[in-house]
Amino acid sequence: MNKNKTERIKFFLEKYKSNLEACTICPHQCGIDRNKALGRCKEPYLPRISSFNLHLGEEPPLSGEKGSGTIFFAGCNMNCCYCQNFPISQLRKANTEHSIEELADNMITLQRRGAHNINFVTPSHYLYQIVSALDRAYQKGLSIPLVYNTSGYDRADVIRDMEGILDIYLPDIKYVTPELSKKYSGVENYFEYDSAVLKEMYRQTEGRLVLDENGIAQKGLIIRHLVLPNNVDNSIGALKWIKENLSNQVFIGIMSQYFPAYRVSEKYLPEINEPLSLKDYEIVLDYAESLGFENAWFQE
Ligand code: SF4
Repeated sequence: MNKNKTERIKFFLEKYKSNLEACTICPHQCGIDRNKALGRCKEPYLPRISSFNLHLGEEPPLSGEKGSGTIFFAGCNMNCCYCQNFPISQLRKANTEHSIEELADNMITLQRRGAHNINFVTPSHYLYQIVSALDRAYQKGLSIPLVYNTSGYDRADVIRDMEGILDIYLPDIKYVTPELSKKYSGVENYFEYDSAVLKEMYRQTEGRLVLDENGIAQKGLIIRHLVLPNNVDNSIGALKWIKENLSNQVFIGIMSQYFPAYRVSEKYLPEINEPLSLKDYEIVLDYAESLGFENAWFQE
């Protein structure tokens, strides 16, 4: 195992060991013992996992030909009313509690099955447990890159302490205003945290995406943005912020797959109670092109 990674993992586990009894790992900073009570994420200490499998639907440098080794964690520290992943993150269906040892074993299993990477999906509320499992997984021979696939609602200071442990950052930029993040996701300070996290991830990776000779990502940053129906201004604001605060050379995924899910209809939000129109999506793609984004993936 990479000596630097071992040292970084030990440093992280020591620095954040209070999370074993008082979880403050994400922006909510509940300060509760997750073995005895539930915080905002409503998830206990031991990680609950919906599935772990090879996934071919990520960006090409992540999925490659063999697949990205996704581990889907139950729950979330946000509460998006349109969550596209709601059976796992909000309804918490079909989730099984795993020990730290079992989480490490899942990573090894995915590596043996040929995964190009280990892709932690919705990991923010289980970050301390993930690092604990990595300590074990590296002793068992884990060697493929690690992908941190997050909403971006993380603590930038915690992400700074993950430097040298995680390899590929895959954060969202969902909203750029507190009004919208409060209205749709129940967290007013989303962009305050997300923008700081994106800057920190950019600093660590220099905004690059390093590929191997087969075009598979080894290190770097890909920022994702899901375009919401009738919210073109939000998408324009997100792209503008990336260009002005990071770079227009950063790799971005502009996603069109939105469908009205979870609680959209019961919350009476007619503007997002329909699929994304081709017209809205094209406006956003045209704007990205006008800003000079060259490393962008979009969906047909
Ligand atoms: S991970 Fe959960 S318990 Fe911990 S601070 Fe965040 S919301 Fe609270």
